[in-house]
Amino acid sequence: MSNVGKLAIYPGTFDPITNGHLDIIQRAVNLFDRVIVGVTTNLAKTPLFSAEERVAMIQNSVSKMSSVGVENFDGLLMDFAKKKEASVVVRGLRAITDFEFEFQMALVNRRLAKNIVTVFLMPHEKYTYLNSTIVKEVAKFNGDIQSFVPKDVGELLRKKYDHS
Ligand code: ADP
Repeated sequence: MSNVGKLAIYPGTFDPITNGHLDIIQRAVNLFDRVIVGVTTNLAKTPLFSAEERVAMIQNSVSKMSSVGVENFDGLLMDFAKKKEASVVVRGLRAITDFEFEFQMALVNRRLAKNIVTVFLMPHEKYTYLNSTIVKEVAKFNGDIQSFVPKDVGELLRKKYDHS
């Protein structure tokens, strides 16, 4: 990755990365010069995969996208974004149910760093129902998750739930 141009951070828990997340990453790649997928741990949730595992899974999934980097971060997103000299934060909006929380967070983040703009991208409609939690639920009971996540992520999920 070169160090010039507009950098966007796409933050999230990614526990694990899904095809919906990848749809958003591809849209961000088309808009910005560089994209960093920022992997964090939501304090309210205990992740199934460690931060290292989540970073490695995303790295595998984006290996063909040369402008994308993957990094783990702790603490405030806006501190990470400033440190990276990002100008944009990307979030995915699936449905109106995402809106209220995302709107609140974007406004707080703007107070914390007024020059960093939050941009919302909508995935293809076929991903609007998808989230990491539902993927884990289906995988736990050995359901078919191949259309939800990249192949290697599906295999790792099966191993976690001992369906290998
Ligand atoms: P967080 O716990 O921070 O919401 P997630 O990993 O759940 O982290 O999501 C990261 C970002 O990706 C969020 O902006 C979320 O709205 C978005 N996202 C999650 N699933 C999808 C999907 N199926 N399609 C589009 N965006 C999504």
